Amino acid sequence: MQSLIEIKNLKHSYIDTDGNEIHALNGVSLDIYKGEFLAVIGANGSGKSTLARHLNALLLPTEGKCIVAGMDTADNKNLWNIRQHVGMVFQNPDNQIVAAIVEEDVAFGPENIGVPPAEIRNALAAVGMTEYAKHAPHLLSGGQKQRVAIAGVLALEPDCIVLDEPTAMLDPRGRIEIVNTVKKLNREKNITVVYITHYMEEAMQADRIIAMEHGVIKMQGKPEEIFTKVKELHALGLETPLAAQAAFDLRQKGIKLADGIISNEELTEELCR
Ligand code: ADP
Ligand code: MG
Repeated sequence: MQSLIEIKNLKHSYIDTDGNEIHALNGVSLDIYKGEFLAVIGANGSGKSTLARHLNALLLPTEGKCIVAGMDTADNKNLWNIRQHVGMVFQNPDNQIVAAIVEEDVAFGPENIGVPPAEIRNALAAVGMTEYAKHAPHLLSGGQKQRVAIAGVLALEPDCIVLDEPTAMLDPRGRIEIVNTVKKLNREKNITVVYITHYMEEAMQADRIIAMEHGVIKMQGKPEEIFTKVKELHALGLETPLAAQAAFDLRQKGIKLADGIISNEELTEELCR
């Protein structure tokens, strides 16, 4: 597998208002591979957003390196090029909408000046929002607004999209819309995805998961590897998906189940067998 982003011993410190140093990242080393769907989980304050902001040079390392498509984020001349490779989607869709009509919003996003109309149409189609092109963004649902924000990033044709808790402000239906949209972009357009979430059902959709605590990576693996380590997850202050928790509880009661059960379908299959 080919790396798109190489992170080597990355450390990041903030200085808070009292002048104290806050060690938000304490030595993260991670390769993000081309075409993968990577989920990032971890309790509040574990450093997820700080890590995300290094991936398109919104933050620069205090120590260590972040290399995006061969370009060092610390080298200022790479900035524009890096931001074309890696787009960011944030939590609040309302803060990311700038225009009064959906297609104009995609066209006039922060970095999108001069993007040709065909790219705008393609981007809206890719998130399933073509029929809303002429609508007013403020009348859309949260999930639809967030899909417009994703289209705004897609219009630049990035290799990688980083989404920092994109579903935190959405209802369950909106959350499903977003995770399905992102999965489709990953599978059909081969866009590398870094997806930060508090929702384990969303993280389950990823190819690989990293779990953070106190600015370091504490666990990493495939969803079935991560979510069957119920005790370790709880120690990090994280939930397990419902079916994985149920499988764990059933085993504790002496019921024999196959290994690696994390989804409702798998648990149902196993119990009916
Ligand atoms: P997460 O996204 O996992 O909740 P963050 O990366 O936002 O974690 O924060 C990691 C740590 O850095 C936390 O202790 C947080 O309080 C601190 N932090 C984040 N942003 C700033 C900032 N701008 N100034 C000072 N401290 C910050
Ligand atoms: Mg955060």
